[in-house]
Amino acid sequence: MGSATAYFLTESPSFDGRVLVVEPDPTYARASTTLSAASIRHQFSNPINIALSQAGTEFIQSFHELVEVNGEAPALGFRDTGYLFLATEAGMPALRRTHKVQRAAGAEVALLSPDEIGRRFQYMNTDGLAGGSLGLKHEGTLDANSFMQGYRQRARHNGAEYVKDRVVGLEVEGGKVQAARLAGGGQVGCDWLINCAGPAAAGVAAMAGLELPVEPRVRSIFVFDCRAQIAQEMPLTIDVTGVHLRREPPYFLAGGVPREDVAVDGDDFAVRREEFEEQVWPSVANRVPMFQEIGLKNCWAGHYAYNTLDQNAVIGPAEEVPNFIFANGFSGHGMQQSAGVGRGVSELVVFGQYRTLDLAELGYDRIGRGAPFTEEAII
Ligand SMILES: Cc1cc2nc3c(=O)[nH]c(=O)nc-3n(C[C@H](O)[C@H](O)[C@H](O)COP(=O)(O)OP(=O)(O)OC[C@H]3O[C@@H](n4cnc5c(N)ncnc54)[C@H](O)[C@@H]3O)c2cc1C
Repeated sequence: MGSATAYFLTESPSFDGRVLVVEPDPTYARASTTLSAASIRHQFSNPINIALSQAGTEFIQSFHELVEVNGEAPALGFRDTGYLFLATEAGMPALRRTHKVQRAAGAEVALLSPDEIGRRFQYMNTDGLAGGSLGLKHEGTLDANSFMQGYRQRARHNGAEYVKDRVVGLEVEGGKVQAARLAGGGQVGCDWLINCAGPAAAGVAAMAGLELPVEPRVRSIFVFDCRAQIAQEMPLTIDVTGVHLRREPPYFLAGGVPREDVAVDGDDFAVRREEFEEQVWPSVANRVPMFQEIGLKNCWAGHYAYNTLDQNAVIGPAEEVPNFIFANGFSGHGMQQSAGVGRGVSELVVFGQYRTLDLAELGYDRIGRGAPFTEEAII
């Protein structure tokens, strides 16, 4: 989010300021971005979330031209595999409802019967399914680190500065952030402070006296191989158990929601291995019988920036401190929203209002009102 915002600010012909990105770990080893499952979908229940992902798609389609520096850009490796949301009878009303919203928003999606699913994806066991929703275009996976490095290289080329440091305090006076204090001892004055601290965002908000209900929650990703190969493309599949599964050639990648889904320490990156045995493997082996025999090759844990009010993004200024802008709380859908959000935040800074997508529904004011923004398709 920090690099996407730096990108859009420095690309804007109307921006005449300077951008400083403060980042304690330029390797991004523990950033949500680099530990992400790196996928994009248009299947959300809410038009603004669909539109944000469509903005992601537009960016991906022209990625090389948009971020190249001297003709070079990181390889994004986008694979247009689609997403397949599976449903039992109980889940069908929601699937039908969201299907209508998605079609109205221009998403290319199809509702499939269990027979159609079985015919199309012959490796799949359709027992217990009443249907599924398949993305036909623009959904799939890419290299999340390349995506971020693309924004970053171009932002730096445009003049954005990156400093290896950590924001440890904010000077707030007269209802404005005047400066950020850095762990290295420096202090940087600012007209705007944009909070892009991912799972650590609540700590940065607190430095300005603002409450943000965003906490780090562990999500483990498991990489496995299977001797029997599937001879067709596999959509990123969300089973009725909530377990997601996709191919990462030559391997497969899966994960779920921990049974005990609680806030964790910012340094706790331990993989919940029991999750694989108890939830993930049983689920994928049931849905794809050839996965009864697999070998676990690798696993990692990352942190969702989890908004406890509604698991959705918080974007825009705080009324109490209007030059403090949030770009936080993205759970598992922030990489795909980065272009739409970075662009929106840059518009707030440059024009004082949104010019392309109106992101007001995702504003900070809903936090104080305790009014959740309902999104049914959360993974
Ligand atoms: C396991 C997992 C799977 C995911 N899958 C997907 C997916 O398939 N699709 C998708 O769209 N999204 C996915 N996401 C979410 C996505 O990765 C993020 O929402 C997105 O990358 C945006 O991240 P961010 O920039 O907000 O946070 P981060 O990438 O975490 O970046 C925040 C940065 O802030 C820095 N920071 C923290 N505190 C401070 C401070 N005090 N001062 C200065 N800097 C600070 C950190 O060092 C870090 O580099 C997934 C996330 C996880 C963990």
